[in-house]
Amino acid sequence: MLSPGLESILARPRPTPFLALDPGVARERYRALRAAFGDAARILYAVKACPEPAVLRALAGEGAGFDVASQGEIALCLAAGADPADLQHGNPVRGPGAAGLAAASGVRRFVTDSAEDVDALAAEVPGARVQVRLSVDDTGSATPFHGKFGALPGTAVALLRRAAERGLEPAGVTFHAGSQQTRPQTYATAVALALAVAGRAGLRRPELDLGGGWPVGYRSEVAGPGEFATAVRGAVDAAIAGGAVEAVTLLLEPGRAVVAPAGVLRATVLRVSRRPGIDHRRWVYLDVGRYQGLAETEGEAIGYPVRVPGRTGAAGPCVLAGPTCDGDDVIYRRTPVALPLDLAAGDVVDLLHTGAYTSSYASVGFNGFGPLEVVVADGA
Ligand SMILES: *Cc1c(COP(=O)(O)O)cnc(C)c1O
Repeated sequence: MLSPGLESILARPRPTPFLALDPGVARERYRALRAAFGDAARILYAVKACPEPAVLRALAGEGAGFDVASQGEIALCLAAGADPADLQHGNPVRGPGAAGLAAASGVRRFVTDSAEDVDALAAEVPGARVQVRLSVDDTGSATPFHGKFGALPGTAVALLRRAAERGLEPAGVTFHAGSQQTRPQTYATAVALALAVAGRAGLRRPELDLGGGWPVGYRSEVAGPGEFATAVRGAVDAAIAGGAVEAVTLLLEPGRAVVAPAGVLRATVLRVSRRPGIDHRRWVYLDVGRYQGLAETEGEAIGYPVRVPGRTGAAGPCVLAGPTCDGDDVIYRRTPVALPLDLAAGDVVDLLHTGAYTSSYASVGFNGFGPLEVVVADGA
């Protein structure tokens, strides 16, 4: 089930915790998205999901573009061989000078969502291509953005017009329907809204950037890329048939869906204990937790599958917790986790589908526990 590259890393004992990462799997996932959405769709990998150079090199080699948020990410992409023309600065939160610095690196594409940012862009990068980010309904997302980004439709129309007035090139509309977004219909609804906005702003042949959000089957099956592509295509065709726009250039910014299945996080059990009166379950403490890469277990938003490679006996419920002295460093309390009843300190435990939003989220050394080491598969 795991790739040969991941199996060979895990077959060799080494100090834990570490993230085994196979860029070849990310490459396969990228190809699957391409196959579903068609060669005309442009894929910009969202670097924040996993900025590991070997992953960026593998995707640049496939011709991917990149969604970047900072000068640090721009530098990583360029070092991996990306053409700056294929980078899109997707973070509307830019401090003074940041857009100009990105432009000096060759970046010409920016996402915006406020009048303040449009004006700053016009001053720093005259003539830049801009997409306006729309705030959309994110029903079905396990990790939504809670309104941090995006403009309402009327404002988005005004921002596209303002961009043109300020000498920018209004290219189209984007949104992010929330990460781990499991409902194809949520994309279809957002697409209809985005193309109505583009049409009202006078863009006849807009870019339609679908953002990220494509889900991963962590503990249960999710719809595949084909089902999302079908929903998107239906909404695009309806908008064209309805006269909102004439034609659409599709872009996608997947992060999680490309890289999550490329990683396995191996940890070691530090202690299995029972504390009567606290919980009827065993507490299993690992050498990895919220601060060594498992940030997405906050609120138990993402439920990684857990396996114990060395034991085969009957399993029972437990609470899974991290190693630090922080009360929030509990991985799963409500999410059911059944581990072998004979589990003991020193056993290794694997958390699967952990390639996305893990190593990039690890703290530098909270409570004396270092950041997450990454071990990349051979041949990458
Ligand atoms: C994080 C992010 C993405 C990637 O989202 P996923 O849910 O990982 O696919 C794409 N676009 C933007 C602007 C983002 O901030």
